[in-house]
Amino acid sequence: MKTNPVIKCTCTGVLFGACFPLVSTLVEMWNQGLPLSFQSVMSAQASQPLLWIIDSAPLILGVMAAFIGKKQRELIVHNEQLDLKVKEKTQFLEEKNHELKGEIEIRKRTEKALIKAKEEAEDAKHAEERFLANMSHEIRTPLNSIVGFTRLLIETEVDEQQSEYLKSIKYASNHLLAIINDILELSKIKAGQIEFEQYPINLRDLLGSVINTIAISARNKGLEVGYDIDDEAPEGIKGDTVRISQVLLNLLNNAVKFTSNGSVKLHVSTIYNDDCKCTARMRFEVVDTGIGIPADKLESIFDDFKQAESSTTRLYGGTGLGLAISRKLVDLQGGSLEVTSQLGEGSTFYFEVEYPTCEAKPEEEDAFNLHIKDGNELHARVLLAEDNDMNRVLAEKVFEVWGSSFELDFAINGKEAIEKFMANDYDLVLMDLQMPIMDGFTACEFIRTELDPPKRDTPIIALTADVLASERKRAFQVGMNEYVTKPFKPQELYFKMFKTIKEYRDGI
Ligand code: ADP
Repeated sequence: MKTNPVIKCTCTGVLFGACFPLVSTLVEMWNQGLPLSFQSVMSAQASQPLLWIIDSAPLILGVMAAFIGKKQRELIVHNEQLDLKVKEKTQFLEEKNHELKGEIEIRKRTEKALIKAKEEAEDAKHAEERFLANMSHEIRTPLNSIVGFTRLLIETEVDEQQSEYLKSIKYASNHLLAIINDILELSKIKAGQIEFEQYPINLRDLLGSVINTIAISARNKGLEVGYDIDDEAPEGIKGDTVRISQVLLNLLNNAVKFTSNGSVKLHVSTIYNDDCKCTARMRFEVVDTGIGIPADKLESIFDDFKQAESSTTRLYGGTGLGLAISRKLVDLQGGSLEVTSQLGEGSTFYFEVEYPTCEAKPEEEDAFNLHIKDGNELHARVLLAEDNDMNRVLAEKVFEVWGSSFELDFAINGKEAIEKFMANDYDLVLMDLQMPIMDGFTACEFIRTELDPPKRDTPIIALTADVLASERKRAFQVGMNEYVTKPFKPQELYFKMFKTIKEYRDGI
C-alpha cells in the first residue's frame, strides 16, 4: 500500500524539526548542569529565550515538508498520467505496426498478383499476335493464289460463259479478301499493332484520288459526287496517307452504298491553332442524301459487326466492321468520328484531326514511267524464296508479263535461298518470311551478317502474307529493304523492285 507523500513528508519534517529544540534544550541543560527532568527542561527554556524560537522548527519544517510532499504527490500523479499515456501510445503504435505489417503483406501479395497478371497478359498478347500472324499467313497465302490466278486467267482467251464464271470468282475472292483484311485490321488495332507513318501529303491530290475511287460507282447510281476544301487549307499536311484514305474511303463507300438519289459530298475545312500555321486542325465531313440512320442506332453502328438494320447485309452487303475500324483509326490520330443523321433524309459522318502542315509533296514518279524512261534496260536477276508451289507458279506468270526486265530464279526455303545466293549473282532477293527448314528472317540475317560485301548488301524485299506491324518491324530490323504483302498487286511489286534495285545501283 502506498503512503500519501504529504503525510509522509509532513511527519518527516515535524520529526526532523523536533530534533532542533530537543538538542538545543539538552545542550543548555548540560551547560547549566541540570539533571534530566521535566522541571530542568522548563528552567532551561526559561533561561534561554532563543529556545522558544527554535521550538517553532517542527512547525516550520512540517509545513515546508507538507508542501514538498504535495508537490511530490502532484509529480507522482503526473508521472502516472504520463505512464498511462506512454502505454496508450505504445499500444496504439503496436496496433499500427501490426496493421502496417498486414498492409505490407497485402501489398506484396497484390504486387505478386499484378506481376503474374501482367505476365499472363503479355503471354496472351503474344499468343494473340502469333495467332494473328498465322491466320494472316495461312488464309492470305492460298487467297493470294486464287486472286492471282483468276487475274491471269481473265487475261487469257476464254469464252463468254467462262469469262462470267471467272468474274464471279474474282468478285467472291476479292470480297473474301476484304472481309479477312477487315477482321485482321481490327485485330491488329486491338493488339496495338498499328503504326502511323508521318510523311508529307498533298492534301488536294489525296482528296481528288479518294473521290475518283468512288466516282464510277457513284455515277453509275446517278449520284452527284464531289469534294470542296476551303481556300485557307494548307497545301500539304504530314500524316499517314494510307490511313487517312482508308477512313475517308470507308465513309464515302458507305455513303454511296446507302444513297440511291441525290449526292455524296466530301467537305474539308481548316482551323489554325497558331499564327505560324504550323499545325492545322482539319475537319472532314462526308455528307449524303441517303436512307439515314435511326436515332437509337447512331452509337451502336460503330460497334464491331453492328449494322443499323438486320436486313442491311441482305440488301447492301457488308460486315459491319468498317465504322468500327474507322473510328479506332481516327481515335489513334487524336480525333473522334461522329455522325448526325435524319432517317430518310441522309447522314453526315465527320471527324477533326490535327496535322502538322508542310510543303505539298511532289507527285511520286510512277514506276512504269521510270521503266519507260530508262528504256526497259533494268535486266535484273531476281531470286524468289517461296515455299508455296502455287505462289511460285503465280510469280513466274506475273514476271513473264514484264518481259526481259527481270530474270527469275527460285528457292523453296531460306536454306536453299542462301545456297543459291552464294553460288550465283542476283540483283535482288524476294524473301517469303514463313518457310519450313529456314525462315526468311534467318536467311536475311545470315546474308547481312555472314557474307562479305558486295554480296551481303544485295537488296532483299520481304514478300509475305504477314501483315502485322511487329513482323514488318522485324523484317526491317534483320536488314530487309522493302516489304510487300501478299496477295501483292503486280504494279506495287514492280514499283518496289524497280526502285530498290535502282537505288542500290545508283549507290543511294
Ligand atoms: P458495313 O457498311 O460493312 O455494314 P460499317 O461499319 O461501315 O459496316 O457500317 C455499319 C452500319 O452503319 C451499316 O451497316 C449501316 O447500317 C450504317 N451506315 C453506315 N454508313 C451509313 C450511311 N452513310 N447511311 C446510312 N447508314 C449507314
